Amino acid sequence: MGASDAGEVRSTCPYCGVGCGVRISHAAGHITAVAGDETHPANFGKLCSKGLALPKTLSRSSRLLQPQVRASRGEPRVPVSWDVALDHIADRFAGSIERHGPDSVAFYISGQLLTEDYYVFNKLAKGLIGTNNVDTNSRLCMSSAVAGYKATLGADAPPACYEDLDHAACLFIAGSNMAFAHPVLYRRIEEARRKRPDLKTIVVDPRRTDTAAEADLHLAIAPGTDVALFNAMLHVLLAEKRVDRGYIEAHTEGFEPLERELSACTPEWAAGVCEISADDIRLAARWFAEGPTLSLYCQGLNQSTSGTDKNATLVNLHLATGQIGRPGAGPFSLTGQPNAMGGREVGGMANLLSAHRDLSNAAHREEVAKLWGVKSVPDKRGKTAVELFEALNEGTVRCVWIACTNPAQSMPDQALVRAALARAELVVLQDCYADIETARFADVLLPAATWGEKEGTVTNSERRISRVRAAVAPPGEARADWEIACDFAHRLGHQLGRDGERLFPYTSAEEVFAEHCETTRGRDLDITGLSYAVIEERGPQQWPFPEGAAEGLARLYTEGRFPTASGRARFHVAGYTAPAEVPTELFPLRLTTGRLRDQWHGMTRTGRAASLHDHEPEPRVTMHPEDLATRGVEDGALVRVRGPRGTLTLRARSSDEVRRGDLFIPMHWGGRFLAGGGVNALTISRYDPHSFQPELKHAIAEVEGV
Ligand code: SF4
Repeated sequence: MGASDAGEVRSTCPYCGVGCGVRISHAAGHITAVAGDETHPANFGKLCSKGLALPKTLSRSSRLLQPQVRASRGEPRVPVSWDVALDHIADRFAGSIERHGPDSVAFYISGQLLTEDYYVFNKLAKGLIGTNNVDTNSRLCMSSAVAGYKATLGADAPPACYEDLDHAACLFIAGSNMAFAHPVLYRRIEEARRKRPDLKTIVVDPRRTDTAAEADLHLAIAPGTDVALFNAMLHVLLAEKRVDRGYIEAHTEGFEPLERELSACTPEWAAGVCEISADDIRLAARWFAEGPTLSLYCQGLNQSTSGTDKNATLVNLHLATGQIGRPGAGPFSLTGQPNAMGGREVGGMANLLSAHRDLSNAAHREEVAKLWGVKSVPDKRGKTAVELFEALNEGTVRCVWIACTNPAQSMPDQALVRAALARAELVVLQDCYADIETARFADVLLPAATWGEKEGTVTNSERRISRVRAAVAPPGEARADWEIACDFAHRLGHQLGRDGERLFPYTSAEEVFAEHCETTRGRDLDITGLSYAVIEERGPQQWPFPEGAAEGLARLYTEGRFPTASGRARFHVAGYTAPAEVPTELFPLRLTTGRLRDQWHGMTRTGRAASLHDHEPEPRVTMHPEDLATRGVEDGALVRVRGPRGTLTLRARSSDEVRRGDLFIPMHWGGRFLAGGGVNALTISRYDPHSFQPELKHAIAEVEGV
C-alpha cells in the first residue's frame, strides 16, 4: 500500500467484544478518520467514545520500529535486523528445548490478536515445539464463561444473539457494567426500553454503576455472593412451581440432585449471605420466570475463584425455566476482549485444542495431529496464565514469548509477575509500543503491526466473524503477528530438525484462515462454508456456517438438543463459597476492580488520546462516605490503599455508589501513571479450580490518609 493511497476500508473496532464495524478513512499512509459501519449487524453505524477516538490513539511516537536485542541482563538493547533477532530467539528456544524439554518454553498471547495470529502461535507451540504452554490474557477474561457453558450445555458456544435484546421481556444483567464496558450494546438496550417501557431490567452488582442506576431492580449483593443469589432464585421458582417441568424432563439431566442442594437455599438464607432483602430475591426470581429472559454477564461472574459455579448456576436458571434456544431468552456471556472468542475457536489456550476439541481426549489429539501433519500433539495440560508466571518464577519455564499484551500491568499480584519476568532466562516481547511496562523486562523486542495495519478476522460475543482490514502500511519494520510467528517457526524448525516450512507455508492471513476453517469440519463451530470471499460478499457471519450454508445460526439449541454425550443439558450443583480473601482486622475492606467508560485495558492505546482522559482524568479509589469519615479522610484527599501484597497511593472519591466496607479502583492505570503500580499491586492470583481464571475482582485492603 503506497503512502499516497487514499480511500476507505471496512474493518472492526479493536476494543470490546461487541465487535462494532467501522469505516476507516486513510490518506498518505495515515488513518484520518473512523466512522461506524451502518451495514455491520453488531452496531448499525453506532460507535462509543473509544471507537470514535481511534484515530487519536494511533500515535506513532512510541512505536517500536525495529527489532531490539540485548546480549545479557544489565546491558541496553540494541537495534538489530529481523534475521538477527529471530535467529537469536530460535537459538535460545532450541537450546532450552534440547536441554530442558519442550515445556521449558512458553507463549503468553492475547485476546487482542486476530484469529489468524492465534492459529499460528497455537500450532507453533503444540504442533512444532510439542508443548501446550500457550496461554493468553483471555484467561483473565472469559475462561469461567467457557467452563460454565461446557459444564452445562456441553460446548463453549454462547447460545443467544444481539437481536434477542429486541425480544426479551426481562434482562438479567449480572456482574457487568454494560453502559461502560459494552456501550453500543447498551445503547440497544436503551432503545429497546424506550420502545417497550414494560421491558424489565435487573442488575446484579455490588456497585451502583451507571447500568445499575437505570435498572428496575438493582441487587447490590456483597461482592462474590452470586452463587447464593442464583441458587436462592431457583429455590423460589421451585417453591412457587414456576419451573418448566416439561422442558426439564425433555431436555435436561441432573435436576434431582440440584433440587436437593437447593432445599436449604432459601431467600432468607441468601439475603444474609448477599446482604440484600429476601423480597428482592423473590421479585427477581418471578420476573426471571415470566420471561423471556436474557441474561447478560461478564467479569463480575468470571474473575472469581468460583467463576465456573457462578456461570453454571446462572445457566441452571435458564434450563429450569426453559428459557434458552428461543427468541429473547438464554444465557449470553459478553466477551471482554475483541477476539477472546476467536482464540478459543482455534484452541489457542493451554487446556484447549483446535475447533473446540478437548486436550484430554486422545481421539481429538489424533485428529489435530492428522490435520496438522505432525506425529502427535502433547497430552499434558500446559501452564495457564497464573501457573505460567509461577513456573517462570520457579525456573521450570525458562523462556517466554509475550505477544500483544502487557502482563507487567494486567496480571494479578504484580510482585509475583515482575519477579517471574526478572527471573526468566529469556523474555521476548512482540508489541507495537516500546513504552509498556513489560518492555522493561524484555531481552528481545519485536515490532508488531497494529490495528489498521493488518489483515485477519475476529469473533464477537454473538459468534459473529468479521474481517479486520489494513488501511495503511505498518511503520518501520513492523510486521503482522502471524507473519513473525511463521518466520520464527521456520528458523526454529531448522534448529530442531523439524520441517517448519511445511507446517507454516502461509503467504497471507487468508491462507491461515482457510486452514483454520478446515479444522472445524464436523465440529459444533463448523465454518467450512466461510472464506474471506464469502465474508466480503455477504458481510460478517455467525457460526456455525458449514459448507453449503446460506447463513450462520443466530440462535443455538432451538431444538432442545445439546452437544453433550446424552444430547441433554446438565444441571450444575454448586454451593456458595466465599472469595479467596475475606476481610480481616488488618485489612477490613473489600476491594473490587472494573472498567471506566473511556479507557481500554491498560491504556496502551486509549491513554494516548487526550480527549479520553476528560471523563476520569486520574485514578481514584471510590469509598463510601461513612468509611472515609471513620478514617478521617476528606473526599479528594490522597490516601494509601494497603493490601497483603502491595500499596497504592491515589486520590479518594467519596460516593455511596459503593457499599459500606467496599472499595472500587479502576483497572486501567498502571505503574507508568500510578505510584506503587496499578491496581494489580493489590489483587490476588488465586484462581478458579476449573477455569483457572484468577480472582481479579476480589481482594482485601485498608485505606489510610497520607
Ligand atoms: Fe468498539 Fe466496543 Fe465501543 Fe463498539 S462498543 S465502538 S466495539 S469499544
